[in-house]
Amino acid sequence: TFDNVVQWVYSVCGYCSVGCGLKIGVNAAGEAVAVRGNDAHPTNAGRVCVKGLYEYKVLDDNDLRVAERGKYPLRRTSTGGWESITWDNATSLIAQKIIEAIDTAGPDSVGIYNTGQWTIEEYYAMGKLGKGALRTSTMDSNTRLCMAAAVYGYMTTFGSDGPPGCYDDIENTDCFFLIGTNPAEMHPQVWRRIANARKSSRAPKLIVVDPRRTATARSADLHLQIKPGTNVALMNGLLQQIIANNWTDNGYINANTRNYDALAAKVASYTPSYVSGITGIPAADIALAAEWIGRSQEVWSLFIQGVYQAMGGTDTVRQICAMHLITGKIGRPGSAPFSITGQATAMSNREAGGSSALAAYRNYYNPAHIAELENIWDVAPGTIPPHGTTVISSKSELQPEKNSMVEMMRKGELKVFWNACTNPAVTLPDLNALYSYLDFSNPSRPFVVVQDIYEPMETAHFADLFLPAAQWGEKTGTYTCAERRVNLGRQAVNPPGFELRPSYGAYSDLEIIKMVADKMAAMDPRFRTQSGDSLVGFNSAEEAFEEWKQVSAGKICDMSGMSYAALETNNGIHWPSTPANLLGGARLYTDGRFNTNWDRAQYGISPDAPWIDPDDKSRAYLWAVDYEAPPEVPDSQYPFWLNTGRVIEHFHSRTKTKRVAQLHEMVPENYVEISTEDAQSLNVATGDLVRVTSRRGEIVVKARITDTVRNGAVFIPMHFGDLDPSDVAENDGRLVSVNRLTINYVDKDCGQPIYKHCAVKLAKA
Ligand code: SF4
Repeated sequence: TFDNVVQWVYSVCGYCSVGCGLKIGVNAAGEAVAVRGNDAHPTNAGRVCVKGLYEYKVLDDNDLRVAERGKYPLRRTSTGGWESITWDNATSLIAQKIIEAIDTAGPDSVGIYNTGQWTIEEYYAMGKLGKGALRTSTMDSNTRLCMAAAVYGYMTTFGSDGPPGCYDDIENTDCFFLIGTNPAEMHPQVWRRIANARKSSRAPKLIVVDPRRTATARSADLHLQIKPGTNVALMNGLLQQIIANNWTDNGYINANTRNYDALAAKVASYTPSYVSGITGIPAADIALAAEWIGRSQEVWSLFIQGVYQAMGGTDTVRQICAMHLITGKIGRPGSAPFSITGQATAMSNREAGGSSALAAYRNYYNPAHIAELENIWDVAPGTIPPHGTTVISSKSELQPEKNSMVEMMRKGELKVFWNACTNPAVTLPDLNALYSYLDFSNPSRPFVVVQDIYEPMETAHFADLFLPAAQWGEKTGTYTCAERRVNLGRQAVNPPGFELRPSYGAYSDLEIIKMVADKMAAMDPRFRTQSGDSLVGFNSAEEAFEEWKQVSAGKICDMSGMSYAALETNNGIHWPSTPANLLGGARLYTDGRFNTNWDRAQYGISPDAPWIDPDDKSRAYLWAVDYEAPPEVPDSQYPFWLNTGRVIEHFHSRTKTKRVAQLHEMVPENYVEISTEDAQSLNVATGDLVRVTSRRGEIVVKARITDTVRNGAVFIPMHFGDLDPSDVAENDGRLVSVNRLTINYVDKDCGQPIYKHCAVKLAKA
């Protein structure tokens, strides 16, 4: 019951990118004691999933399984322990280390790695500090692991980023094409809307492409159980059938696209029987899927990590977009390619330029964009560095031309690693290699700053300095969800250690960024504006938003029409939103015009990129791509495909969800899904310990025998680390983190790692 709630605070969910409207219930003592869905919010109409339901629990240390909320800045001692220091000393230390690094090794030796869970205001502030004051191009975020393929696919097809459609398309479509996504477990409120739409008189069909028989796949009219790493071949097969059967919209193709002839020629050989040989999907099912897509009036495609984190991720996004373009099914209710993301504000980082991109999709290659931003920020011309970087690149023997933050660590070139609101010690691939670069015994390791809400957490294991941060519900800010709707989340409770301020206590990430910016400006004039001020001048989240929205004005993610009051009144607003057209941003490209005109191109890529429309007609670009086999496939030594992914009860590296008893008890430890037939040949039963080994490491987890995976393939959840004391005890010291096994190989276009397939062997432990 909600009997003890005296106030409901307006908010939005801080977990996944669906962006459900919530209210946080606060009692008379000022404690968060409940969450309920916001009935008036169009996304979820009052409903929440199990993670959202228990979200208030993370705001009360006394209500958690393992209560270790950070309240004090901590410095590593010479004996490997922690000592608490004041915020003044902590910000002096980080400023001093950054200045040392810049003076000895240049600005790019300072690496900033952040998140998909901050607010727009926090991304904007960090982008301003990193690019406008520190001048480092070594900035990236964990959204590189999450949805970089969608960004690059959209950008190189449409000329700009951003999902073209919105959730309202769900109720207006005739055919759902779900590829590499399992919304029944990963995005439950999107799935609820799909399931309800399926029961309507319109009765849209459901096609699901997934190597596993997930809850979503079991509900499908047609499940295409694809072999790992073969999405590109399947998409070419669907395109071939659509073209061969004249299910194209030739008028739309001629008026609004380029490169159709090359696409048609490329896919001509991808007949259903040829594609069946690569993908393992029956040829008749490929033809049937193409027919449903081709003949349906409206088609809505949904995709996430099974596309992005698989071989050819960017190319697959381009092909999905091409499928909509050649059938003319885009820019109207019920039809769109719709990328979804993992984290609540992955979209916000794309927009606000908190990592590798520039604020408001400005273009690194466009001098006018750079000059405009330098002018707004009041910094000297030439201040903003020329490029962003990626957090990780393939091992040099796999893709020798790539560099990245992790490669810089390996080579001893990274001097400071400021890691905020993300847990790479669980989430990056090939963890054993990463641990060796960050180990305290490594003389060329960087100075590591970890800014997070809990200590211990796995990445803090490698930290020299820990900065305690406030979290969702303890701060106010804006969150852009997957459909480009910007939501407002208001502060409901004070952060832990509030009574210890100003020396100690957790602060919001925005406040921490400001403290560091102010300290650096005070210590060294190089880090001030031309007027002599700190780059981060705003004193509240709302002030930061007011500055940000002016930076966004006139760009594709224009938020100049929004205000905190309008966001609350309207229960979120789609971008673009201007004062003249506050609520008109639900769908992009409704007129068939795209942003492929170079003068209007809004994102950083070379001017000779093929998608730039040379005739200045703003037509979308159709990519003609070939299937390429994954870099590692099962063989006699490592005979199983390994797939990784999520479970509904946990979020990312479980930093929060493992502390909530109700969620932990549902999935308390890691496991490996094995098919019944494979389990028999391995002589393994559910609950037995199994050693899973790849060329990069091994783990020991419990077996779960299931028909979800096919023979020759196994699945292990991605959420579990094995460095925290509570996990070590729970696992009897076993290593359980699946990213000790995954391969370090990234997409050739976007730098997103391939987590969805590598080769492993199994043995009863
Ligand atoms: Fe939160 Fe996503 Fe669940 Fe909605 S579906 S309550 S946004 S975790």
